[in-house]
Amino acid sequence: MTAAPSHKKAKALKPTSRRPAKELCSECGLCDTYYIHYVKDACAFLNQQIAELEVQTHDRSRDLANPDEWYFGVSQDMVAARKTEPVPGAQWTGIVSTIAIEMLTRGIVEGVVCVQNSEDDRFQPQPVLARTPEEILAAKVNKPTLSPNLSVLEQIEQSGMKRLLVIGVGCQIQALRAVEKQLGLEKLYVLGTPCVDNVTRAGLQKFLDTTSRSPSTVVHYEFMQDFRVHFKHEDGSTETVPFFGLKTNQLKDVFAPSCMSCFDYVNSLADLVVGYMGAPFGWQWIVVRNDRGQEMLDLVQDQIETQPVMSQGDRHDAVQNSIPAYDKGVTLPMWAAKLMGIVIEKVGPKGLEYARFSIDSHFTRNYLYVKRNYPEKLDEHVPEYAKRIVQQYKLPNK
Ligand code: FAD
Ligand code: SF4
Repeated sequence: MTAAPSHKKAKALKPTSRRPAKELCSECGLCDTYYIHYVKDACAFLNQQIAELEVQTHDRSRDLANPDEWYFGVSQDMVAARKTEPVPGAQWTGIVSTIAIEMLTRGIVEGVVCVQNSEDDRFQPQPVLARTPEEILAAKVNKPTLSPNLSVLEQIEQSGMKRLLVIGVGCQIQALRAVEKQLGLEKLYVLGTPCVDNVTRAGLQKFLDTTSRSPSTVVHYEFMQDFRVHFKHEDGSTETVPFFGLKTNQLKDVFAPSCMSCFDYVNSLADLVVGYMGAPFGWQWIVVRNDRGQEMLDLVQDQIETQPVMSQGDRHDAVQNSIPAYDKGVTLPMWAAKLMGIVIEKVGPKGLEYARFSIDSHFTRNYLYVKRNYPEKLDEHVPEYAKRIVQQYKLPNK
């Protein structure tokens, strides 16, 4: 007879209890389960261990002598892709939902961890352990709010599932990798998306109210490669707002402290990452990190068209100029913001250089945030690759 797993002894926290990571908690869901037993080791905000978990997952950590790996992590391939027949209502063309459905219907996995929305609020996340293609499809489109995806982990052991796909963002996947061996699985596949600037549900409302002309009808939005936020409304219309016209002075405290302290934008520990920012406008950006990731991508090769990734321009000046502008909460008048958006779209960074622009802007901002608010955490919490990225820029002393 085998001993009962030790995680059974831990008790999940009540939804209203303060989390071990306190205000840095990203509500990843781990603490809603008996796997809270491992929280000190597993929580992305209590124990940053990306390099160690890269070795566990990809057999090596990223090569610090290769600047491309500072940015994009361990990978064996990168490509731009789009579905030839996009999934209606997906965030982009629905590559994530399609891969998950193929894995389930071909019997490669028995269930998929993903996140639907609650019945009465399209932006309120509702994590599920999906067992049908319909349940996976109902999880399509971003819930741009902190989502406790790992809260369904207890259901996996209870269901007796042995082969599982988890879809998630970086902080969820770091905690998942740390408890992976306790889950009793034979095979775990991880399909990640990049993630940045996430918000609580209340924070999302403030963002919509300050930025969109019609906050209540927004069904979907994205910060796009043309330096504009694109909102899609219920009636199918699109609204665009230039980044440089965002009311940064009002929005400064809208992003969750966890996301202001995150240096895993590109989901280092997933097997396959599907985003958009390293690809031309309208295309998705795919990073294959290991053989499991390639196996997943191969399932949809006949449903996508692809092109090689490209890189154009030089981001450095734009990033350097954005640092004091963000700090001072500068907001341009809308006509100037539109003009600036048009100019930068023409001459600004494209493809992988746009991805580097976005990573640099967020890492410098987040580095300053951690330095100012959690100076005692700075050294251990910021991974070495992120320190190298930040060191390229001149930051304010305080
Ligand atoms: P779909 O087929 O529509 O499927 C979306 C999947 O995402 C679903 O399976 C769902 O379970 C999952 N999901 C939705 N919301 C969440 C959530 N809150 N937490 C965890 N899982 C979730 N890509 C970039 O390149 N740059 C970015 O800056 C960027 N920011 C992002 C910010 C957030 C908050 C999120 C959730 C994603 C972000 N992405 C970013 C990824 C990108 O927006 C798309 O999600 C990705 O390209 C997949 O598109 P799709 O059409 O294939 O997905
Ligand atoms: Fe727990 Fe996750 Fe919050 Fe960390 S981020 S305290 S693991 S719920």
